[in-house]
Amino acid sequence: MHGACRPSSMTHYFDTVIIGSGLAGLRAAIAASRHGSVGVLTKLYPTRSHSTAAQGGIAAALGNEEPDSPEWHFYDTVKGSDYLGDQDAIEVMCGDAVRTVVELEHMGVPFSRTGEGRIAQRRFGGHTKGFGAAPVRRACYSADRTGHAILFALYEQSELQGVRFFPEFHVLEIVIQEGRCLGVVALEIETGEIHRFNARATLVASGGFGRLFKTTSNALASTGDCLSILFNAGVPLEDMEFFQFHPTGLYGLGILVTEGARGEGGVLVNGRGERFMERYAPVIKDLAPRDLVARAIMIEIREGRGVEGKDYVHLDLRGIDRRVLMERLPEIVTFINTYLGIDPSESPVPVLPTAHYAMGGIPTDMDGRVLIDEGGAVVEGLFAAGECACVSVHGANRLGCNSLLDTVVFGRRAGRTIGGFLKTAERAEMPGGAVERARDVVESLLARGGEERVGALRKELQEAMMQRCSLFRDEQGLKGLLQRIRQLKERAGRMAVDDRGRRFNTELLEAVEFGHLLNLAEVVALSALQRRESRGVHYREDFPERDDTDWLKHTFAFRRGEGIEFRYRPVTITRFQPLERRY
Ligand SMILES: Cc1cc2nc3c(=O)[nH]c(=O)nc-3n(C[C@H](O)[C@H](O)[C@H](O)COP(=O)(O)OP(=O)(O)OC[C@H]3O[C@@H](n4cnc5c(N)ncnc54)[C@H](O)[C@@H]3O)c2cc1C
Repeated sequence: MHGACRPSSMTHYFDTVIIGSGLAGLRAAIAASRHGSVGVLTKLYPTRSHSTAAQGGIAAALGNEEPDSPEWHFYDTVKGSDYLGDQDAIEVMCGDAVRTVVELEHMGVPFSRTGEGRIAQRRFGGHTKGFGAAPVRRACYSADRTGHAILFALYEQSELQGVRFFPEFHVLEIVIQEGRCLGVVALEIETGEIHRFNARATLVASGGFGRLFKTTSNALASTGDCLSILFNAGVPLEDMEFFQFHPTGLYGLGILVTEGARGEGGVLVNGRGERFMERYAPVIKDLAPRDLVARAIMIEIREGRGVEGKDYVHLDLRGIDRRVLMERLPEIVTFINTYLGIDPSESPVPVLPTAHYAMGGIPTDMDGRVLIDEGGAVVEGLFAAGECACVSVHGANRLGCNSLLDTVVFGRRAGRTIGGFLKTAERAEMPGGAVERARDVVESLLARGGEERVGALRKELQEAMMQRCSLFRDEQGLKGLLQRIRQLKERAGRMAVDDRGRRFNTELLEAVEFGHLLNLAEVVALSALQRRESRGVHYREDFPERDDTDWLKHTFAFRRGEGIEFRYRPVTITRFQPLERRY
């Protein structure tokens, strides 16, 4: 791995620095590398980014298995978003999907094939033909290891382009001064040394923050560090109340069973053996969007129709031919076998919704520029793409397979925008104070005494978020949650680490990450409290209806001292007027 060299000095200069080596970061790195030097920082080994866990597929209306069109994809995504997605951006994404998948294939992604050798496609939730008439085969996949296949291809391409990797570098600060981003400060995990990366352009591609919740499909590293860092630096966060729960996490574990399992013919069944999705979505049933399916599962359980009265339902894969199961969902079969000791071709699988995906995040325009306010002003030299960003193409609810598409389409666009920006951007030199601030955070955690420990505090936060801010929310619960978050913040002031060493001090970094989770928890809970309606994944029991008169708008949260200020931005509607969602 020649790109992952040990840095010779602790001050670095790049034209572009990218935080994150998931699909968004790597696709942007390939594009930006045509215009100057690129350094990619990642707190993990590059190919361990959460993108590698993506199972089911990437959406594109190739029409390889049956007629399909980008326009239907556009419509499905708008409807899936419960009309909160910005339609100009959605049109761009769906319009670029076919080219994107063909390009990925040319870069070496081994997609699964049809009998005639074309890229195979399967059904996925919310993807339909004829504007909602019936499910369509739109998800391109590489068995159930699609993210892994794409990530490795993009990693190879980045290496070929001479991108330099800094694996296991944990970003502590993103430096913004007078409206301009000057680079980042990071801790080298192996040595504990602090490095400064001066960059003319900085792109944040740091992924999601599912670790905010007790039960999640997300990797341990999905803690939203950079959203929290930017929020504290004055950048707003958009639509943070919208956090998606995937309907089918393995019961008790949260490990994901891809929607592809239902795309291949799996069905959900309650404790009475009923295919209950027929009642909630008569046309597309088990292939309804995730917000509806996850909520339906919870309603079945609440009303006493869980399996054996317990809090789970069954995902029944026994109708799928065993050969198809082994060929198209081999990892899923192995997970189910390993973690639950079940053979899914013989027994139904216990499942429960699991925290999965952040629709909200760092607001950007369609070319990856980060917005500093709801009016559209940008931070010079700062870009974002992937799950950490909010373009917004997913609105209030993302459709399956649209995230991988989002990362690659908008990662590439951000990289190209950076190319244009670099033509005139001046050399960056960050002030010394930025490094000192980062050093202070680390040193004070290492020096501090106190009875609180990160593991216990994090568990309490995750449980509280799960109880009061997941699939069902109301004012009383959210207010109680906010009080709890404030108490946890106060206790976090007495949090100490037992490991006082500098090399590979993961306890220290977990403490830093926990600070970010706490910060984000407050934004999510307060954003949810403000939005007095139900839309997509955000379901308020005290305001169960969607309210387009007052709430067809994006939330922008700003840090103001100890408090948070809310402002709003209109949704861009170009083509499809909001209608009641029926499936
Ligand atoms: C189990 C699972 C299955 C999924 N399946 C699908 C699917 O089939 N189809 C689909 O469309 N979507 C799927 N998704 C969603 C999709 O995979 C993700 O949204 C997407 O891969 C995110 O990519 P990303 O590039 O934005 O970030 P990630 O791949 O999450 O990468 C984040 C990067 O940021 C780095 N980073 C973060 N913080 C720091 C820091 N402080 N310092 C340095 N580096 C940092 C990390 O090291 C990592 O390299 C799935 C998600 C999960 C969890």
